[in-house]
Amino acid sequence: AKNLKVVTIGEILVEFVSHTKDCGLSQVGDYSGPYPSGAPAIFLDQAARMGAPTEMIGGIGNDGFGRAVLDRLKGDGVGTKGVTVNADRTTGVAFVSYYTDGNRDFIFHMENTASDHFDVPEDAFDPANTILHVSAASLGNPRMRDMIVPTLRRIDDAGGKISCDPNARPELMRDEAVRDALQEAIDRSTYLMPSTSDLGFLFPDMSEDAAIEKLLASKAEVIVIKRGAHGATVVSGGERFDFTGHSVEEIDPTGAGDCFGGTFISLLAQGASLLDAGTQANAAGALAVTRRGPMEGNSSPAQIAKFLETQRSENVA
Ligand code: ATP
Ligand code: MG
Repeated sequence: AKNLKVVTIGEILVEFVSHTKDCGLSQVGDYSGPYPSGAPAIFLDQAARMGAPTEMIGGIGNDGFGRAVLDRLKGDGVGTKGVTVNADRTTGVAFVSYYTDGNRDFIFHMENTASDHFDVPEDAFDPANTILHVSAASLGNPRMRDMIVPTLRRIDDAGGKISCDPNARPELMRDEAVRDALQEAIDRSTYLMPSTSDLGFLFPDMSEDAAIEKLLASKAEVIVIKRGAHGATVVSGGERFDFTGHSVEEIDPTGAGDCFGGTFISLLAQGASLLDAGTQANAAGALAVTRRGPMEGNSSPAQIAKFLETQRSENVA
């Protein structure tokens, strides 16, 4: 599979990050932002930086927040013909605050904003030559779900490919329509990229190896397990690659999973090997956590190469 276009459909947001830990978004304090955000946008921005042709399908308001994201995406080479600029609604917003124990609180203003009011243009991509990446969080929004599910069927039926990050948050999984949509996305996916915590929600009481076997039993050809600071594992056919986590200072972990996924899928879309794609994605994920803001830690192939070079010399020293 060479030179497939990478497409996402879903939320485009700006994010404000609290500088104070443990405030639970309920106290007065300093924040920075607007940072460009939204899981599908973070993923696709990184996919474009890694060189694949891309198309973002989503919505922004005709306001400063919307322009902040659109300028970033365009500047990084993301295809934005599928981004609807909505004159009647404002750009979606998220706020995040961290706890000392690593947990985080989010408040999303997404429903009934420009973020979930857009259409999927028929001509934005050729279904047979597309990898559609589905971020499970987008399936929690009914309007987005009703655009994503028919599109993933259309692409799958035409011989294109689906990739899925089954971000299985418990509040999402309580909704039967979300569970059904996620199950269909998983069943139709060639690439599945759960984190270790997603596996716990999807397959409670199952060992990791059993869960991987179960995921490989359907259509999936490549399973990636994301392990945060502990790195990642890629399993496909008889092959297994374990990538040790790089030692970095974690400033803001949000977006690391999307940055990892965007790197990995973009490289595979361009014909890279699993070993190469996994090595670069594991480095991109590590770099992502060193910058405040969900998309600020996205990186170029040159930055990734330089980082891997310094990591190698540190390991030798
Ligand atoms: P999120 O949903 O917050 O975007 P995720 O839970 O989907 O993230 P993570 O496992 O947190 O995904 O991160 C993705 C990848 O980024 C990891 O598999 C790893 O390669 C890299 N990574 C994340 N955090 C760290 C860290 N603290 N140190 C080194 N590498 C990291
Ligand atoms: Mg995740």
